[in-house]
Amino acid sequence: MSKEQFDKIVNHAKVQGFVYPGSEIYGGLANSWDFGPLGVEMKNNIKKAWWKRFVSECKYNVGLDSSIILNPKVWEASGHVATFSDPLIDCKYCKSRYRADKLIEEYDSSIKASQMSNEELEHFIQENVVCPKCGHKDYTTIRNFQLMFKTSIGVVEDQKSQAYLRPETAQGIFINFKNVARTTRKKIPFGVAQIGKAFRNEITPGNFIFRIREFEQMEMEFFCKPGSDSQWYDFWKNYCIQFLYDLGIKKDNLKFVEYAPTELAHYAKATSDILYNFPFSDEFEELWGIANRTDYDLSKHQSFSNENLTYLDSETNERYIPYVIEPSVGVERLMLALLCDSYDEEVINEKDTRVVMHLHPSIAPYVAAVLPLSKNLSGQANEIYDMLAKEFHVDYDETASIGKRYRREDAIGTPYCITIDFDTINDHCVTIRDRDTMKQERINIDDIVSFLREKIKL
Ligand code: ATP
Repeated sequence: MSKEQFDKIVNHAKVQGFVYPGSEIYGGLANSWDFGPLGVEMKNNIKKAWWKRFVSECKYNVGLDSSIILNPKVWEASGHVATFSDPLIDCKYCKSRYRADKLIEEYDSSIKASQMSNEELEHFIQENVVCPKCGHKDYTTIRNFQLMFKTSIGVVEDQKSQAYLRPETAQGIFINFKNVARTTRKKIPFGVAQIGKAFRNEITPGNFIFRIREFEQMEMEFFCKPGSDSQWYDFWKNYCIQFLYDLGIKKDNLKFVEYAPTELAHYAKATSDILYNFPFSDEFEELWGIANRTDYDLSKHQSFSNENLTYLDSETNERYIPYVIEPSVGVERLMLALLCDSYDEEVINEKDTRVVMHLHPSIAPYVAAVLPLSKNLSGQANEIYDMLAKEFHVDYDETASIGKRYRREDAIGTPYCITIDFDTINDHCVTIRDRDTMKQERINIDDIVSFLREKIKL
């Protein structure tokens, strides 16, 4: 896939109502997006599928919904206040501003600039990299730019009331470790999963909804006994990739990258990313991060809060701070991967192409569309619609020719079109058309619900 293909997908998503540019009637707000009627359904389906897989179906895990604004000490303990920043450098000539590490990686993708100190970054840029905008080589020094959004609590905007919008949901889980362990009586190993908004004042947002400043994370912190962590790390890596395969993402578009010990964040013992072949880039890009965070976070919170965050193993009577495996993925980034992966312009014959999104039925905005062949059949069609709407999100359309209606549904990824025709009254049957094969089968109205239930299973 190419950059042009990506532009087509972005345009398609906008035109169909998956994603709208943010604050559009006020001239927009750069890199902010709103999710339209189809987008919100798709996002909800992604979250539902993840929750089902990581909480409901997984005997180890429970869920949590912690606050966005936490006691600011949380972010001191986690290291975010001191280190969650990007190195910025400005071109003195044209005033363009760059993330120094990205500027170097764009200049030479074989260099791992994120491992370099600010001095090294600055030196390399001054020596080698011309400004991509104006071609000059005259830069300012590097300044660190804090990525957390600041806000203030209460009416007085002084230092004391300063707080942050969370840049990740993980810390809300760590600070509730004791609460969850106590109230659920869960024994280690167990995981706590959470879905929620995170905010990062990204310097280089872009590529549609790939990197945005306000996004949702689906994170899980899995607490396990030190020594068993490597095994659980492998377990969750497999669990995550299997989830992506089950969603129907093409295997060729996914791969793992395991980071070398020298490339790891200070808190991690091991980290791997699941990368996806996003069409805007020549390289595969991060979709899902899986890290072995050791006992770093709980230890830090223990020392900053003076609360005992150790766990007493009732079988061995040992007390320890658990190790943590964290798989973390963005809802919008996964949505983008699914949009890219499922978009297809299928040649039917020399004169005819159809746009079709091969989304998994559990993810598609509508599971089915109810289409009466004629407006005279709308009474019966509405009855079927009402019956299905109790359990599924279904579309209803009685305008235009049936062929046009099929194409509309293909374009938004509706897996099944249910057509009510004049025989329906006599045989109590409808025709179900499969989006991908375009094959049609006749089934009894009483069987539609179980048919769809079976299809949306992951
Ligand atoms: P990057 O290095 O690309 O900035 P990261 O490694 O800091 O990302 P994590 O902190 O590991 O990202 O976040 C976990 C997941 O959250 C990512 O794999 C991605 O799916 C999602 N994510 C992170 N930042 C953003 C963002 N700005 N917009 C959308 N999704 C994001």
